[in-house]
Amino acid sequence: MKKFDYFQPETLKDAYSLIEKSNGSYIYIAGGTDLIANIKNRLIQPDALISLRRIKEISGITQNKDLTLGSMTLLRDIEKDSHIGQNYPALAQAVKILATPQIRNVATIGGNLCNSAPSADCAPPLLVLEASVTLEGPGGQRSIAIEDFFMGPGQTCMNMSEILTRIRITPPGENTGMAFLKVGRVSTDIAIVNAAACLTMEKNVCRKCRLSVGAVAPVPLRLRSVEKMIEGQEISPELLNRAGKMVEEEVKPITDVRSTSGYRRIMSGVLIKRAIEEAIRRMEQNK
Ligand SMILES: Cc1cc2nc3c(=O)[nH]c(=O)nc-3n(C[C@H](O)[C@H](O)[C@H](O)COP(=O)(O)OP(=O)(O)OC[C@H]3O[C@@H](n4cnc5c(N)ncnc54)[C@H](O)[C@@H]3O)c2cc1C
Repeated sequence: MKKFDYFQPETLKDAYSLIEKSNGSYIYIAGGTDLIANIKNRLIQPDALISLRRIKEISGITQNKDLTLGSMTLLRDIEKDSHIGQNYPALAQAVKILATPQIRNVATIGGNLCNSAPSADCAPPLLVLEASVTLEGPGGQRSIAIEDFFMGPGQTCMNMSEILTRIRITPPGENTGMAFLKVGRVSTDIAIVNAAACLTMEKNVCRKCRLSVGAVAPVPLRLRSVEKMIEGQEISPELLNRAGKMVEEEVKPITDVRSTSGYRRIMSGVLIKRAIEEAIRRMEQNK
């Protein structure tokens, strides 16, 4: 493994100025659970790592009007946060079964998003919650919808010196239920398929539907056409079957070491149906 330097700036400004001087040979590191594996496998060979760990302003969980998660918040801290468990259960569920407690003790939510794996478990819940992300760099700050963040496997819309600083979620309204589900070889493994649903109901009729699947396309997907088909309808077994079929047609899975594309296609439809049912069941439980 090539030797590299290691910097620990305490402010965002110091982090940008380090990376700007480097001509692309330095890289930010959060928990390192994805990055160090990539270095060991010689997929990248940076001259230096710039740790974001000491930058206090980008860590922690706050609920004012919106829920704000600093990008350096550990997955373990999200898992243990009872407010998130109660009010954003799809995110809590995704984090709870992401990897192992050892990984969750060092891995961050920002790292999970910036790594931009199509299977990233935090992506589907944040997509159905319509989260926005704040990106900050020497040129200033911008806020974008999470849907516009992912560009392809390992690619985001960030430029080299930008840092993902915060994730913002507006609390869902009343009569809303949500769920996250995942299929993997074992429950803590990288997803073969993952899915999230967030539904607002008025009696049996769905007023608002947000659906997402991961690991079945180059980026985690929002399923807009399926959402549109469901909104304004009563949730029935026939509707769920139609939704499942539509999902199967919309995804573009690949075959790899974890699964065949055929299995991923079928399971994406199955998981969306189950996630919708689970979201409604949770909503009714909380009445
Ligand atoms: C054994 C094992 C099991 C795993 N299982 C799962 C799983 O079940 N589900 C899953 O989704 N993932 C899984 N992972 C992947 C990984 O643990 C997560 O993606 C984790 O959240 C990455 O966070 P990190 O803080 O370690 O990121 P890092 O490895 O530090 O960084 C990842 C990438 O993001 C960039 N980056 C990080 N933070 C920022 C930021 N704030 N601004 C700009 N760029 C940034 C880094 O430069 C790097 O390119 C697993 C990994 C291992 C090793």
